[in-house]
Amino acid sequence: MSKKASNKGSVTKRALRLYHSYNPKYFPLFFLQTLFRNAAPDFNLWMSAEVVTALYEGRAERELYLLAAVTVAGNFLLNIAGAVLKRVVDTQLEVLQYNEAAAFNRKTLSLDYDKLENPEIRRHRRKIVENSWINDYGVKFLRWRVEELINQVVNILFSLALFSEMAVIIGQAPIKWMELLIFAAIVASMALNIRFQSRSARMSAEEAQGIGEMALEENRLYFPLSGMDSRIYSQSKLKSRLREELRERHRRVFSRAANTFIRGHIPVVFFGKLSELSTYMIVCLYCVTGVFPVGSVIKYVGYLERIKGSIGSLFSLNRHMKENEPFLQTYLDYFDINNDMYQGSLAVEKRSDKKFDIEFRNVSFKYAGQKEYALKNINLKVKVGERLAVVGMNGSGKTTFIKLLCRLYDPAGGEICMNDFNVRKYDYRQYLSLFSVVFQDYTLLSLPLGNNVASAAEWDTVKAERLLEEVGFGERYAQMPGGLETPLYKKFDQDGVNVSGGEAQKIALARALYKDAPFIILDEPTAALDPIAEAEIYSRFDEIVGDKTAIYISHRLSSCRFCDKIAVFDKGEIVQLGTHEELLSDVGGKYYELWNAQAQYYTEKQPQGGETAVSGAFG
Ligand code: ADP
Repeated sequence: MSKKASNKGSVTKRALRLYHSYNPKYFPLFFLQTLFRNAAPDFNLWMSAEVVTALYEGRAERELYLLAAVTVAGNFLLNIAGAVLKRVVDTQLEVLQYNEAAAFNRKTLSLDYDKLENPEIRRHRRKIVENSWINDYGVKFLRWRVEELINQVVNILFSLALFSEMAVIIGQAPIKWMELLIFAAIVASMALNIRFQSRSARMSAEEAQGIGEMALEENRLYFPLSGMDSRIYSQSKLKSRLREELRERHRRVFSRAANTFIRGHIPVVFFGKLSELSTYMIVCLYCVTGVFPVGSVIKYVGYLERIKGSIGSLFSLNRHMKENEPFLQTYLDYFDINNDMYQGSLAVEKRSDKKFDIEFRNVSFKYAGQKEYALKNINLKVKVGERLAVVGMNGSGKTTFIKLLCRLYDPAGGEICMNDFNVRKYDYRQYLSLFSVVFQDYTLLSLPLGNNVASAAEWDTVKAERLLEEVGFGERYAQMPGGLETPLYKKFDQDGVNVSGGEAQKIALARALYKDAPFIILDEPTAALDPIAEAEIYSRFDEIVGDKTAIYISHRLSSCRFCDKIAVFDKGEIVQLGTHEELLSDVGGKYYELWNAQAQYYTEKQPQGGETAVSGAFG
C-alpha cells in the first residue's frame, strides 16, 4: 500500500471531497430529505403520547377530535413533502453516479497511451471496478456510509430535541440509588452491545468470504463438466465423486457459520435486550413515582431507544469507514497517476507538398512488464509520397512499429525523426494530426454514418459519399434509408443499421481517407477478408491514396507487392528491405521463404516460387 494510506483519516476526507464534487447538490438534499423522513415518525410518536394523555385525563371530545385532525393533516403534509424530496434526491443520485462514471472514464481516456495499455495500470483499473461491483467497496460504500451518518445525525438531533423535555423533568426529580443503578445498567449493557456488535460484524464478514469461496469452488469443479470432454466421456457421472471432495470443505464453512451465530450474534442480542429492559425499567419507575405522566411511557422509551441505536450505529459506521479506506486509497491512487509523455512544443509545418520525411534511427522498444524487446535496432527511412509495406509473421513487431511512429509509445532507445527533428519535439496534437490510421481493432461509434466517416459533428456530404463509393461501400450505402444520417448500430437508436465486419472495415477506410492526413497507414484492417479480397482492396487503395505517404501492414506478402519498398520484419528486427523483385531474388532470404510458404493461398497452381505462382491472384 502507498505511503498515503498510512494517513487514514485524510484518505476518507479526500475521497469524500472528490466524490462530493461529482454532484455538490446530492448530500445537502439527502440531508433535507432525511429531516422530513425522520419528522414523520417523531410527529406520530409525539401526537400519540398527547392522545393517550388526553384520554387518560378525560379531556373534552372536541379536543380529542382536534388532536386526531392535527395528526392526520400533519402526516399528510409530511408525506407529500417526503415524496417530492425523494424524487428530487433520486434524480440527483443519478446525476452523481453518472458524473462519477464519467470522471473515471475521463481519467482513463486522458492517460498516455502507454499507461492505458500498461498491464499494472489495467489491473489497477480492474481492481477498482471489481471492488465496486463485487464487494461494493470504494466510493459507493463511502456514499452509503455518509448517508447513514446523515441519518444517524438527524436521528440524534430529533431525539435530543425531544429528549430535552425528559431531561428537564428528570433533572428536577431527586435521584436515588435505584435510578442510578438502572442508568449504569443502561450504559454498561449498551457498551457491551457495541463491543459485541463489532466482533460479530468481523466474524460475519469472514463467514461471508468463506461462503463466497465455497460458491467459487463449486463453479471451478463443475464448470469443466459443461465442456466437450464431458459429453464424449459422460463425465457427469463423476459428479458425485466431485461432490464428496466438496463436502468436507462445506462442513468446515457451515460449522464456522454456526459458531459465528452462537458466539457472535447471541451476545449482541442479549446485551441489546438487557439495555432495552433497563430503559423500560427507568421510564416505568419514573411513571410509578409520578415524575413522568403515564402517556409518556411509549414516547420516552422510544426516544431513549433511538438515541441508543444512533450511538451504536455511529460506532459501527466508524468501523466501516476504516474498513473501506484501503479501497478508497486504490481509487484515489488511480486519479493520482500522472502522464509523463513529453508533449513537445515545436509547431508542425503546414506543407501543401506534404513533404514530411520520416526516419527511424536505431530504434528499440520493449513493452512494460515484458522481457523481450518488441523492436530491436530499427533503421528505416520513409520518403514523402512513398508506398512502404511492412510485412512479417504475427508478433514480428509490425504494429509496434506503427504505434511508435504515431507516438503512442516513445522508443526505449534510438530516435524517430521527422524532417530531421526528433518527433518528441513536435507539438503532440499537431504531430498526431499528420496520421490517418486504420488499426486492426478500429472502433466505429453508434452515431450516424456521416459522423463516423467525418469523425466530426458536421460532414461534407459530397466528399463522404465519394469516399464511401471509392472504398467499395457504394452498393450498401444505396440501401441505407437515411443516407449519411443513418445511425450505425442500435445502441442509441432502434432505426440504426447493423453493418457486417467487412462493411465496417470499409467505413473505417473511408474515415481514414476523409481525414486527408499526409500519412495514411493501414494495419491489417482487412485481416477478416480472404487473401485475394485483401490484395484487391490494397491495390485499389493505392490509387485512392494519391500523393500521400502510405504504409501498409500485412502478414500476407501478396497484398503489398506493388509497394515501392518492403520492410520484412522478423522477431522485432528488419531483416530485409527492398522491392518485391529484389527481395524475391534473394533465395536465402526471409521474404523468399515466406512468399513460397504463402503462395499456395493465392493461386490455383502449385507453389513454385516466384511471380508466376501468384499472377492469377491479381487478375
Ligand atoms: P505484429 O503486428 O507483427 O503481429 P506486434 O507489434 O503486435 O506484432 O507485437 C510484437 C511483440 O510485442 C509480440 O511479441 C507481442 O506479443 C508483443 N506485444 C504487442 N503488444 C503488446 C502489449 N500491449 N503489451 C505487451 N506485449 C505486447
